[in-house]
Order: sequence, then structure tokens, then C-alpha cells
Amino acid sequence: MKIAVIGTGYVGLVTGTCFSETGIQVMCVDIDIKKVEKLNNGIIPIYEPGLDVLFHRNVAEGRLKFTTNLAEGIKDAQVIFLALPTPPGEDGSADLKYILKVADDLGQIMEEYAVIVDKSTVPVGTAEKVSAAIAKNAKVDFDVVSNPEFLREGVAVEDFMKPDRVVVGTRSERAKKVMEKLYAPLVRQGNPVIFMDERSAEMTKYAANSFLAMKITFMNEIANLCELAGADVDNVRKGIGTDSRIGKRFLFAGIGYGGSCFPKDVQALAKTSEEYNYEFKVLKSVMEVNEAQKTKMIPLLKKHFNGDLKGKTIAVWGLSFKPYTDDIREAPALENINILLEEGAKVIAYDPEGMENVRNYVLGNKITYAHTPYAALDDAEALMIFTEWPQFRTPEFEKMALLMKSKVIFDGRNVYELDHMKELGFTYYSIGRETVN
Ligand code: NAD
Repeated sequence: MKIAVIGTGYVGLVTGTCFSETGIQVMCVDIDIKKVEKLNNGIIPIYEPGLDVLFHRNVAEGRLKFTTNLAEGIKDAQVIFLALPTPPGEDGSADLKYILKVADDLGQIMEEYAVIVDKSTVPVGTAEKVSAAIAKNAKVDFDVVSNPEFLREGVAVEDFMKPDRVVVGTRSERAKKVMEKLYAPLVRQGNPVIFMDERSAEMTKYAANSFLAMKITFMNEIANLCELAGADVDNVRKGIGTDSRIGKRFLFAGIGYGGSCFPKDVQALAKTSEEYNYEFKVLKSVMEVNEAQKTKMIPLLKKHFNGDLKGKTIAVWGLSFKPYTDDIREAPALENINILLEEGAKVIAYDPEGMENVRNYVLGNKITYAHTPYAALDDAEALMIFTEWPQFRTPEFEKMALLMKSKVIFDGRNVYELDHMKELGFTYYSIGRETVN
């Protein structure tokens, strides 16, 4: 079997690499010449745990190849995945220009039947649009299938190789057989490939992400209320998470969700609702609460410094939107750092994987980048934690105390225990819990 993957970002590269690991031939296509050059030179442009081993093995064994040429890429491919960006357009709806452009091109160059798979997160009705764009010029038969991706950055390889489920939206028996064959090696343990119509599959992805964003946001609102009512959100989390109807995951309070998916997908689903004249009230609240939650620590920080952050040195631990990724898209850290800079503070940041992206694409040299978490603390008047990387969990607190000008932590991810902070004599602000002074 031979497949093509168009778009070699976080989703496309993982999709291509993981399918090549099952023994099939994979051709990855991207318009970014530099990215393809890197990949052809054995350099993986993103950080994703476990990807390197699979990538190098399959490249070496000749199953995984890269090109910028679409026609070359799709030659003899039975399945063509579209793993292209679907960023928010000006009105918040998903912008389909990348998808429809490639669909248009495919119509002109396809030489034999293929299954075109929407792997990108796309609104209800997109499979029909992609189909129409291809059909305009197509000389051969084809099917368009919706196959949303549920992988999580940071554990993407594991998620892809052992998915909880695979959702495939198609009403074509021919396409169904191809998709069944392709995914069979990944669902051998019995996890389901759930077949449905295209529109339901498209909706499933938005429903999943919006539900998870809502779960996080609900817990953040409980945390905000805990602060006012003198309760501890960590206790509440343990108390409700043990209920199997609720579940333990996605219940950690913090400074809100970010990343390239939740914010844009919640927004896009709200936009879809609007298009159908349906007021999806919960989604609006989720967006509003999350926006406020992201910078929730700033007023506390300002109050701590009597309203003036000018000239203050603030250490920052964590830039990526979550641990185990270098992805900084919509990372709450960035919004906070921008405010710190506007207020005249000096920022020294450390992140195990995200610093290069922040330096190259976002903040340049407006902040200082430290080589270790401790180097970021030099003379700092406060430490702010924005991402819960595991190496921040058990640091050498004595060393931190010696390095910092004052022992003050603003923890946006509730990384430490309150009792421990009391014992160590840190001033400690966190989310939904009492402040330790
Ligand atoms: P990305 O920005 O990392 O990658 C997209 C790639 O497409 C880029 O490399 C870009 O150069 C390439 N591209 C753009 N136009 C092209 C064209 N005409 N031809 C070939 N390549 C082209 O995006 P991503 O994070 O991989 O997300 C892709 C899609 O998958 C989005 O719809 C996203 O919502 C969805 N998704 C993402 C995740 C995630 O965790 N990142 C998870 C599930 C679903």
C-alpha cells in the first residue's frame, strides 16, 4: 500500500511516520521548502517524544519520504491525507483556504482512484466542499472521507499507534474498506474504528475538543470560587475525580488552556452554531472564562509589588502551551510575558523545548533565555510558573532561595504542595488554593 500525507506539521509528520511504521510506503508533501530540506537531511523540525526513533528507522528503510512536489507525492497513492492548517479566519470560523487549494490542485493532477482524507479539524460540511473542489477538474473517481485526528501533542506517537478509537466519516463502501485495511495494524487490541457519515465525523472532533475545554474551564471556575469561599480546589478535584462518571483527567485547575487546537476549535464550533442560528451558550462562557483565566496571576503579582512592576526581574518557568512539546501556539505564557514587558518588568525565561520557537518567531530578544531553570532565577524578585514540565516539580528549593532576590512564586499550574511551601518559607500564590505568606 502507498499513501501520501499533505502537510508535514505536528499531525502530518506523526501520521506519516506512524503509518510508515506499519510497513506501508509514505510520501509526505509540504510547501515549506526549508522544512522538507530538513526532513530530507534527517532533521525533525518539531519536538515530539518518541518520534525520532520511528522517523529514522522508516527513513533508513526507505518507507518514509519527503517532497515539495504534490504530483510526485501523490503518485500511486491509494490514500491521500490532508493534514493542513485550519487556522481561525477573521470571524473565528475555520479558514479552509489551505484545504480547498490542495483539493483544487488534486482534482487537476489525480490519475487514478484515491481516497482523500480530511485529517485536519474542519467544520461540518467540509467533506462536501473538498469533494466539490476536486470534482471541478477530476478525470478519475475519488472519495472524500472525514477522519479527524485525536492525538495529543506530547504523546502523539503513542496516541497514534494505539488510538482509543478511530473515527471515519464516509458513506462509500469502497473507501470504508481502504480505511479499515489502513488502520487495522493500529487497532489490533480491539479499540474501535467507528464508521459514520461525514458530517457526524466532522462534528465529533469539535465536540470532543470543546467538551475537554469545557471540563478544564469548569474546574477553573470551581477554583476561582474556592479562592473566595476558602476551599481548596485540589481537595475538590480529588473528591470529584474519583466519581467514575466524572473521571480523574482534565480536572487540574490552572491558568487556562492554550495550544493550536482548543482555542480555535471552540471558537470555530461557536461560529458553526451561529451559522445554524443556534446559541451555544456554554461555548461562549468557556471562551470568556478561559481568556480571563490566562492572565489571572498578573493582578496578584502587581498587588504583591504595590502596583509597580517597573524594573522588577521576573523569572519564568515554562513557555510551551503544555509539557512535552515545543509548541507555543496560544501558550498562556506568552500573553503573560507580554503584559510583564508592557509593565516594564525584565523577564528571564526557561523552557526545556519551547525557547527556540519563542526566540525565533515571537519575542526575539525582548526577554532573556536561561540555559537551566536555576539560571533563570538569578536575582529574580519572583518566579512565575506557566507550564507544568516535570523537572519543575522537585527542584532544589534551597538553591532557588539562594539565587532569588526574594522567595516568591506565582504558580499558574499548582505544581507544589501548600504545606511544603509553608515549611520552606516561600511566599506562594497558586490557583484555587490559599496563598502562603
Ligand atoms: P501545522 O501548522 O503544524 O502543520 C501544517 C503543515 O501544512 C505545515 O507544515 C505547512 O507548511 C503545511 N502546508 C500548508 N499549506 C500547504 C500546501 N498547500 N501543501 C502542502 N503543505 C502545506 O498544523 P498541525 O498542528 O499539524 O495541524 C494540522 C491540522 O490538524 C489542523 O486542522 C489542526 O486543527 C488539526 N489537529 C491538530 C492537532 C495538534 O495537536 N496539533 C491534533 C488534532 C488535529
